[in-house]
Amino acid sequence: MDFSLNDQQTAIQREIGELAAQLADPQLQQRDLAGEFSRPLWQVLHRHRFDTLFIERERGGRGYGAFDASLALEALGRHCQDSGLIFGLAAHLCACLQPLLKHGSPAQLDRWLPRIQQGLIGAHAITEPEAGSDVFAMQTRAVREGAGYVINGSKCYITNAPVADFLLVHARTGPGHRYFDFSTFILAANTPGVSISPVPHEKLGLRTAAMGDIRFEHVWVPEQDRIGAEGSGGPIFQVSMDWERTCLFALYLGVMQRQLALCVARSESRHQFGQAIAGYQAVSHKLVDMSLRLESARLALYKSAWQLDQGKPDNGAAAMAKLLVSDACVQNSLAAVQIHAAQGILSGEIERQLRNAMPAQVFSGTSEVLKNNLARQLRLAAAYRQDKDE
Ligand SMILES: Cc1cc2nc3c(=O)[nH]c(=O)nc-3n(C[C@H](O)[C@H](O)[C@H](O)COP(=O)(O)OP(=O)(O)OC[C@H]3O[C@@H](n4cnc5c(N)ncnc54)[C@H](O)[C@@H]3O)c2cc1C
Repeated sequence: MDFSLNDQQTAIQREIGELAAQLADPQLQQRDLAGEFSRPLWQVLHRHRFDTLFIERERGGRGYGAFDASLALEALGRHCQDSGLIFGLAAHLCACLQPLLKHGSPAQLDRWLPRIQQGLIGAHAITEPEAGSDVFAMQTRAVREGAGYVINGSKCYITNAPVADFLLVHARTGPGHRYFDFSTFILAANTPGVSISPVPHEKLGLRTAAMGDIRFEHVWVPEQDRIGAEGSGGPIFQVSMDWERTCLFALYLGVMQRQLALCVARSESRHQFGQAIAGYQAVSHKLVDMSLRLESARLALYKSAWQLDQGKPDNGAAAMAKLLVSDACVQNSLAAVQIHAAQGILSGEIERQLRNAMPAQVFSGTSEVLKNNLARQLRLAAAYRQDKDE
């Protein structure tokens, strides 16, 4: 096992470190409170081809796999304080671009990739008002008509929706509510019949990522815009989830790294009762616990990324990475507030980190639902062992 990074990987980290000044926004706190997405900052990411980093080099992309993408998103999370922006970028990459690359036909890739490389932003739509954790309960239907489908239904809480140029939409094409009863479509956001809530949702954290609802009213989509075979929405959705639960969550590793450095610096500079607060074990142990959570979450995430790069995606490894990172980020953000005390309660980076951490336990599968999935895997393993023993 080799934990060292190669030259290309250290270059990714260096390049993003050098980009920090361009990604800095002195108005971030005000923009965060106003819930405003920054198109100029997205343009910086686009100019450096981070919005297409999975696209192969031969096509002009960066050709990153899961591990390199995780390093890039971790570095962006560390060097860009606008976590909502990086979250929107990662959702576009993992939930829109990656499934298109994995399941798109050559004709779909030829049609969509050059346009995405022009800077199009994608949104991935599966959640519905009555189908949150239970995604298979979705009501949105795609009914065959002529050489295509007519889509009717509505989606909610969709990241990037208010700023999206294209959508990856899941809709029922089968009779029931099971894994093979829905299909995935790619379409322009301005397709007739699509309406997107114009005002982004107000939310607790990740406020600079635009989020909205989408309605589909008699939206006609040609058959060639269905990704994969009819009924293959389940496996396509799983690609989005495996890549999100791994690469997207790397952004939180970067946030935690930066946060730990801020907490160490604060503990050394803040003096009470005649000494630096770092000298109190209650504080130094908090810092060590933060470091332990960060390192173990990072190892789990890197392992899941490695498995994706080996072509052996492991839902369990991705779920564990997501659980560990999201839990670590919430716990570390609470500790950071406590170490900064009143300074951590005031509007600013430390309180923003806590608000940005909270949604991580909800999107890409809630912690409870992921634990259900992992529990099922444990039972299967036990049953398998039992079979062999008997
Ligand atoms: C910041 C953010 C961005 C998002 N972006 C997108 C996006 O881009 N595209 C998209 O399609 N969706 C998106 N979502 C929606 C997200 O996927 C859902 O919020 C999530 O799946 C949970 O659904 P829900 O909110 O309806 O909660 P519910 O499913 O109603 O769950 C409510 C509570 O019940 C628990 N629960 C539910 N079922 C079980 C069970 N079987 N066992 C134990 N506990 C259970 C949950 O864990 C939770 O605590 C986003 C959400 C957030 C917060």
